[in-house]
Amino acid sequence: MGKTIIISNRLPVQLQISNGTITATPSVGGLATGMKSVHSGSESLWIGWSGLTDEETPPELEDDIDKALAEQGCAKVNLNAQEIDGFYFGFSNRTVWPLFHYFLEYSEFELDFWETYKSVNQKFADAIIEQSDEDDTIWVHDYQLMLVPQMVREKRPNTTIGFFLHIPFPSYEIFRTLPWRKEVLEGLLGSDLIGFHTYDYERHFLSSVRRLLGLDVSFNDVYLDNRVIKVDSFPMGIDYKKFKDAAIMHDSKKSKERSDLQMRLDNHKASAPDTKLILSIDRLDYSKGIAKRLNAFEYFLKKYPEFKEKVRLIILAVPSRSNVPQYQLLKKEIDELVGRINGELSTVNWTPIWYFYRSLPFESLIDLYTSSDIAWLTPLRDGMNLVAKEYIATRTDQTGVLILSEMAGSAYEMNEALLINPNNFEEQADTLKQAFYMPVEEQISRNSFLQKRLERYNVEVWANEFMNALNEKRDIGKAFI
Ligand code: UDP
Repeated sequence: MGKTIIISNRLPVQLQISNGTITATPSVGGLATGMKSVHSGSESLWIGWSGLTDEETPPELEDDIDKALAEQGCAKVNLNAQEIDGFYFGFSNRTVWPLFHYFLEYSEFELDFWETYKSVNQKFADAIIEQSDEDDTIWVHDYQLMLVPQMVREKRPNTTIGFFLHIPFPSYEIFRTLPWRKEVLEGLLGSDLIGFHTYDYERHFLSSVRRLLGLDVSFNDVYLDNRVIKVDSFPMGIDYKKFKDAAIMHDSKKSKERSDLQMRLDNHKASAPDTKLILSIDRLDYSKGIAKRLNAFEYFLKKYPEFKEKVRLIILAVPSRSNVPQYQLLKKEIDELVGRINGELSTVNWTPIWYFYRSLPFESLIDLYTSSDIAWLTPLRDGMNLVAKEYIATRTDQTGVLILSEMAGSAYEMNEALLINPNNFEEQADTLKQAFYMPVEEQISRNSFLQKRLERYNVEVWANEFMNALNEKRDIGKAFI
């Protein structure tokens, strides 16, 4: 049995160069954690972009960088600034991202972007071919690399290839608008196994395959030439134990060990004990519905004025893709909305919205999760939404109410949350009221179901289930039609 090769746009390491010395620090993100059992020892290699463009890489340090990465089981694909522009900021984030999140009007169909996307995908495929053997098992991740499976297949017809899409796959009516729709489907169908977060994304993909390529599809198998490609759903989980343990540790901290943020949250509670904190955390992305949520909050306070001074909304918006114009516009819109709502509704003792535009360290996220009575997450579309799962994992006494958009992939596994349509302000105002008054016993009952499920289907189980299904494909052989 060969090695396991993992491929993603970014490597799971942070490279730092200071005074001619390289340090490579492993990332702590969800994907990197989940892949721990898959990416360990000498039997695996992770290939991706290092985060440094060719222009930012001092040539005399090339070898040292390769060595530092190799120590982490990684190998890099070199990309220059122009490639990052066309492939990452261009096709990936200005064409595929908006389209797959149903923001058709934001999707730019630029031939230049597409050409760069193709050539960069070829670079990744070439790196895989160079660094792997025929009997290796390859797992390609996400929307930046949808052409890679087919590109590898051409050179390595018998290699086992899996692909997982971390964002939604849109319905056929949306997907068909992409000028390069067939090429994208053919790229993905170079895989032996294609995984999605939910059954709906899987269904949408199969419907596009059937209608655009005219291929035979039976249940979740696609028949192409002499191969059978399996399509399945694998909802991604979180590192449940990490969040639970951090929350237990947080609860046990003595007051003098508490962070500045925690003290601010504690002061809030002490000065207004019957006020509830409502939390939302998202990257600043139009798919997350932040502006709509702010409008819905204003609507709620106008519909039910008795909640003035009784609730406070904490919005943590993490900077993201800030050189893409849509994101700059959105930032401006949100800044203005927060300013206007706070300006109109604040009283001497009360500011309705606390707004943070930054990324916070893990400990601060735990402070926020554990201190908030309600988490209110309203994406207009979201492949999964891990924040919803993290909030529930940190509720050590099982209190807390999760209000979650039904447009998030995680809603499929979180039926005990209060599920809402983010476009329905009436429903959201009523749901906020319901959350405010929800009896503690009901909160505990809902959250205990959620916690059990999240603990069981954690991110490691997700990675293992995908790998097991891929290994099964390899073992039964591919050319049996
Ligand atoms: N997160 C973070 N720093 C922050 C805020 C959030 O690292 O300041 C993390 C959060 O814990 C979660 C992830 O970012 O794991 C967001 O994942 P999600 O699936 O909710 O959304 P995505 O950003 O992937 O669309």
